[in-house]
Amino acid sequence: MLFKKHRIYVVFASIITYKNLFLSRIVVVKLEEKQTAVKDLRLRVAADLYLSRELRGDEVEKVAEYAVSSFPTVFARGAVKGEEPKIVELTVTREKLSITVESGRRVRAHEAVKRARKALGEELGPKMGLGVRGISVKFFEVTFIGENLREVRLPFARKVEKTEEGLKYWLELNESDLYAQVPDRIISLFNEKQEERVTGREVHRVVWCSPAKPVKYALDPGPLLEEEGWVKRFHPGIWYYLQPYTSLLRILEEMIIEKVAKPLGFQEVVLPKLIPLEVARKKGHLSGIPSEMLYVCEPGSRELSYFEEYTDLVKVFNEPRPEVLQKFLKEPAFTLPYAQCEPFYELFAGETVNLDNPPIRLYDRSGFSFRHEAGGLRSLERLTAFTRIEIVYLGKPEEVAEIRDRLVDNYLSLLDKTLDIEVRSAEVTPVWMAHAGVVEDVSRKIVATFDIEAYLPFRGDRGSEWLEIANASVHYDKYVDWFNIKERKGREVWTGCSGNGLERWVYAFLARHGFNAEDWPVEVKRLWPNFKPVTMDTWPPRALKKPPESS
Ligand SMILES: [Zn+2]
Repeated sequence: MLFKKHRIYVVFASIITYKNLFLSRIVVVKLEEKQTAVKDLRLRVAADLYLSRELRGDEVEKVAEYAVSSFPTVFARGAVKGEEPKIVELTVTREKLSITVESGRRVRAHEAVKRARKALGEELGPKMGLGVRGISVKFFEVTFIGENLREVRLPFARKVEKTEEGLKYWLELNESDLYAQVPDRIISLFNEKQEERVTGREVHRVVWCSPAKPVKYALDPGPLLEEEGWVKRFHPGIWYYLQPYTSLLRILEEMIIEKVAKPLGFQEVVLPKLIPLEVARKKGHLSGIPSEMLYVCEPGSRELSYFEEYTDLVKVFNEPRPEVLQKFLKEPAFTLPYAQCEPFYELFAGETVNLDNPPIRLYDRSGFSFRHEAGGLRSLERLTAFTRIEIVYLGKPEEVAEIRDRLVDNYLSLLDKTLDIEVRSAEVTPVWMAHAGVVEDVSRKIVATFDIEAYLPFRGDRGSEWLEIANASVHYDKYVDWFNIKERKGREVWTGCSGNGLERWVYAFLARHGFNAEDWPVEVKRLWPNFKPVTMDTWPPRALKKPPESS
């Protein structure tokens, strides 16, 4: 992060208000990345390079002479003058070359070790039939230089110590780690963890608010939904949606499609709902929110007989015995969709898009999305499985910003005017960055994410009692970068997405208008089929309060 040269785009955009449609003006400016708490870096790496055969006679001297004379030049390639990796120690025996290298941050010591191996093979291979068959890393020390650095946990760190200059880590790494860029990523991780402290702050700034509407209903619809039999609890956070709840949910869903998405040219697709771990990794979810997702395992074998021990136990105990089942499953292969847009970016992975074409605008209404939401599962406002329309877009930076702003306008217009719900929009900390464990990027001037929030009258205070029911984001070029999406002329590509929780829309709607369809906005009434709930002798709770009907 720190030492990679990042392009940061500062975009000045007039914040669109819902009365101020189509006025977005955007200027893109490129800046260098800002400085972080880590001022500099020092590395010290010792490694044994095992030779492909034993040296004979004066070959030991020849190899040593070659190393001493040519390694400094090989190491200096790409280094700033005076900052080349330095050989601190070099010994050659009949079976190996041992080297200790010190470096700064540009050409790093472990890179020098790899170059040494390559150079030996290239130079002495043809002359002496000699190469390096393996590397053993004897020690790997990295010192992060800076003031007030925070001691953080790092993978493969054996020891850490405060020094005069900063923090020194001893890492335990092997040959394959060196070739898999593990040391550089550990260094980036350290920088990232220092950043968290500085920039991990919550933003919430109200941008637009509908006029206060007189309260016409003052109850919490959550318990009433159960009481009336519109929904039934299935499992914590997972519900049956019965009638007429499902009708209301579909009416609101249809309105979002017709009044928010379609006017902006969005077309329906069905995105996959099993997300391979690698796609979740690219989206950043495996490092950002592994504790909030649900995972899917495949069976250890497709043979029924493989499960015999398990099926026997299920029969004998008459219980599902998950702890036994676990032994018969493979490692997790998928996550369930958390954001629902994960497969959208993967659609373009490794492909080349053409920004001369209009922006790509798709939506997916084939939820569910799955997540463990913090804050308990009291009612339908927090769910493990929830339905939503996920709206996704890709195009030029200005197109993506414009689409996002107009989505926000459309949501606000639908909610405020058509549905007569008191709503507001707010600039918030971009949740997609947090999901990917990204905390920097605060220097971008275009707003990353707007939330749309509905006021819940039964909770009282207009200052605080708002529920997020939709959001709309631009991701800049982050996913384009992480998913390796190319553009035919190398032009800047941005993506964005907008999600909404349909259960929350129903919740906010009922909290505003109550359960009597006579009191609802005309456009909803018009579509209302007035289906009746399922009833049983013992359910829903409301039915039990009435005296039994005589037959
Ligand atoms: Zn999304």
